[in-house]
Order: sequence, then C-alpha cells, then structure tokens
Amino acid sequence: MDKENTSLFPKGEKLPNDWFTGNAFLSPLVAKDKNNEFSAGAVTFEMGARTNWHTHPKGQVLIVTEGSGFYQEKGQPARAIRKGDVINIPENVEHWHGASAKTSMTHIAITNFKDDVQVTWLQPVSDVEFNEVNNQK
Ligand code: MN
Repeated sequence: MDKENTSLFPKGEKLPNDWFTGNAFLSPLVAKDKNNEFSAGAVTFEMGARTNWHTHPKGQVLIVTEGSGFYQEKGQPARAIRKGDVINIPENVEHWHGASAKTSMTHIAITNFKDDVQVTWLQPVSDVEFNEVNNQK
C-alpha cells in the first residue's frame, strides 16, 4: 500500500451545484454540539471546482491537507494556497475557495455558527473570474 496516495479522510458526498461549481465533496468530521459552536469537515474540490462567493457570520478557518488551489476575498488578488496552508477568514468578508483549473485541492473547513447560521451563499464564481485568477502571476 502506498501511503503517499492515501487520503486522510473519505471523499464524502458531492456538494450541491446550487452553491458549488464543478465537483466538490464533503466528508463531515465534527458536528456543532453543546460544546462546539462550529462544524468541521474535509472538502475536496476536483480540478476547476470552487465554492460560490459567500460570507460567514463568525468567520471560518481552512487548513489545506492536499493539493493546491485558490482563496480570494472580494476586491483582492487571489491567494494561491497549497497543502499545509492555513487561512483565517474574518466574519462577513465576501470570498471563495476552491481548486485551480489544473489541480485538485482538499481542505479542512472549521466554520463557526452565529445562532444557527454559518454561511450566507451568494453568486457563483464565474468562468471569467475563475480564468482571470488562474491566468494571474
Ligand atoms: Mn468560506
């Protein structure tokens, strides 16, 4: 068995294309409970897959565990992210995250709740926006 090719977590279930472009999958890790005001999950984005633009009312932490991709806040240049990177996303900042056009990416997402809300979904990241990020440098 080749350990290098063994993922940390199962790939999980495909996420709906209402909020994700392309093929993204969620493997739930920790559910919100009486102690934890957050949920955690491993999200795998196949090549070209990404979230819609969105915000979190109490922020989110991403820990990249495999591959590489992008994180972008509205009005800012995208940040190339790869295995080992940690992103601490402030509350109510519009952003997206996902794979690149040519690589897949898996991150653990730790997402805080404000009351019962942890995300507000907005418009998709268009192909024009996504291509621009992939062609930057
Ligand atoms: Mn997010």
